[in-house]
Formats: sequence, C-alpha cells, structure tokens
Amino acid sequence: MIDNQSIRKKIQEVKYPGFSRDILSFGLIKEVTIDEDQVYITLEITTSNSSVPEEIAKNLKAKVGEIDGISNVNVKMEVTTPDTKVTGNETNQRNNPTQQNIETLQQVRFIIAVASGKGGVGKSTISVNLACALQDILGKRNKPNSVGIMDCDIYGPSIPLMLGVTQQPEIEENLIIPVSNHGICTISMGLLIDEDTPVVWRGPMIMKTIKQFSENVNWGQLEILIVDLPPGTGDAQLSLTQTLPLDGALIVTTPQKVASEVARRGARMFEKVSVPIIGVIENMSDSIEEPNSKNAIFGNGGGLETAKALQTQLLGSIPLDINVRKGGDLGIPIYAKNKNHIISSNFSCFIKIFYQGSYS
Ligand code: ADP
Repeated sequence: MIDNQSIRKKIQEVKYPGFSRDILSFGLIKEVTIDEDQVYITLEITTSNSSVPEEIAKNLKAKVGEIDGISNVNVKMEVTTPDTKVTGNETNQRNNPTQQNIETLQQVRFIIAVASGKGGVGKSTISVNLACALQDILGKRNKPNSVGIMDCDIYGPSIPLMLGVTQQPEIEENLIIPVSNHGICTISMGLLIDEDTPVVWRGPMIMKTIKQFSENVNWGQLEILIVDLPPGTGDAQLSLTQTLPLDGALIVTTPQKVASEVARRGARMFEKVSVPIIGVIENMSDSIEEPNSKNAIFGNGGGLETAKALQTQLLGSIPLDINVRKGGDLGIPIYAKNKNHIISSNFSCFIKIFYQGSYS
C-alpha cells in the first residue's frame, strides 16, 4: 500500500543541490498524487540554473522509486527564472509568476538583501543607516516615506532598537501594518515575539518569517525595501529567493579574516540562486582618527579581499566609532542624528553608487 507519509519521508531525503536543507522544507513541492502504482509530483522552483531542476528530478525519482509497490515516479517541474533585471518603471515589474503573487509587494520597486556571514559585524547598523540615507535622498526627490526594512534576523532582531521603535504593529484587514520612525517603516520579530523566546525555537522560523513578512505585511508603496537577513549559512538566502523577487544583495563584513571568509561563503549562496551582488561594505574598519593604523582592532583589508573574491566592488568602509554604537543603542542612527557627519557621508556615497548602476 503506497501512502502519503512514506512518500513525504522520501521527498525529505532529497536536498536542494548545494544546500543542507531538503526540498520539502523549502516549500518546492506543489502537489503529490498517487494513482495505483504511479506517483505524480509537481514542483515549483525559482532558478536560472537548469541543472538544479534536473538534479532534483533525478534524485526525487530515485528516492521515491525506492518505495515498494511504486512502478513509476512522474516529476513535473514548474520552473521560473528569477527576474532580477531592473526596469525603469515606477513599480518594478517582475516576470516571475510565483513571486508576483505577493500582492503586498506589488508596489515595492527594489528589494535589496543585506547579508553577512558572521553575526555581530554590523549588518543591522548598516541597514538602518543606509535606510536613513536613502530616505533623505528620496525625500529630496519628492518620495518621502518610501524606505522599509524587513528584519528577518530572528536570532538578534535589533532593527526596532536601532530605529527607536517600540510600539506593537497594528492589524488592518488581516494585514500587519509596519511601524515607523525616522521616516523608515519596519517589521521585525523583535516587535512580535517575546524577547525570552529561546533561540533554539527560532531556527525553524526563518522560512515562515520571510514568507509571513512578505505576504502578511502591508508594505504599501516603497522605493526600496531592505531585507536584513540572519547571519550565516545559505538556507535563509535560498528561502528568500524562493519567496521574494530580490534585486540584489549587499554583503557586510569586518576587515577581519575570519569574518570576510564567512561572508564570502554566505555571498556565494546568492550567486548560486542568481541574485546579483551589488557590492561589499566593510564595517568596523580602522578609526577615523587613525586611518591605516597598525593597531586597527579588526585588522585591515577584509572588505577589499571579499569584494575581489566575489568579483564585485567594495562600496566603502565604515569606521569603528563610538557615535555609531551610541546611535544604535539610542535608536537614533548616526545618519538620522547628523547627516553631515563624516560617517554619514560614507552612507550617502554607497547610495550614489547604487543609483548610478543598473538601479536608476
Ligand atoms: P549584526 O546585525 O551584524 O549582528 P549589529 O549591527 O547588531 O550587528 O552590530 C553589533 C554591535 O556593534 C552593535 O552594538 C552596534 O551598535 C555595534 N556596531 C556596529 N557597527 C559599528 C561601528 N561601525 N562602530 C561602532 N560600533 C558598531
């Protein structure tokens, strides 16, 4: 007797090529039907690498075919290519049918992930300051209130603290309304769950969080949505690209060798899923007072090396500076406090580079 449970178990043994997670938990399985000794499996997958669906189909047929009584496993792949090419339209028209179904993101023009390999390298700090700098520049172009941050860092959701938002989000017509400060709207696990929830319970929530934050939040009309990713592995990156139409990824690293090596590994996951890497930002570089110092706490050069290894550009460096740390703790990012500060001007530079490229 062929039953759903044994098929499910076999599907769980098939990993997404190059990743440790199985195809079922990534949500790729659309339908499974059994007709006597025949099994029909339909998958929905977003990739531009044709070898990925081929490998999955081969492994799926082999695994499910091991079940006694099955004579044939029919695999149907519905493959969509991530459309990362940016148009000059008011709203970014993407071709991916799966992703276009996300109504709440229809009016978001660009979606950019901010990622790092290691935690604690300043990914959230960079996200909030970039958001403030973008907000400032877009305000001058008559596009106020058009930057959002989706905080998917469920291990350390620090965006609310760094933006100084504490209020619980409200719900209207079954959608969560993001909360705002400094003109930036955000949604974060930090606003939705108890701080005391053990981290071990948060791991399995990454995929769900990304999906919920995409589908159940009323993002409204935004020029840019910054997605602050959890540090590390490739699973979150892959979940994200299966769910969101990403236009690019920014990689944050410190100058330290150990951080830049992990950042490179994390970034390669974006390459695998064909998301363009916009560039690398080095954070916690040598202090402004002592540029190129031999005493730089996290060393020198990791950002440039990471950029070279990923064949992308180093967008710039943010020094280790007490004002940056204080801004984060007080909920007033350094850019929001003083946009003329030398560190703030570094953030403006990144944005000029961003808009000069293909994102204009
Ligand atoms: P991540 O998001 O990568 O975990 P955070 O942005 O939360 O990292 O930063 C970790 C800590 O380091 C925070 O306390 C933050 O205020 C501090 N920090 C980040 N960047 C800088 C910097 N350039 N100078 C000083 N402190 C920084």
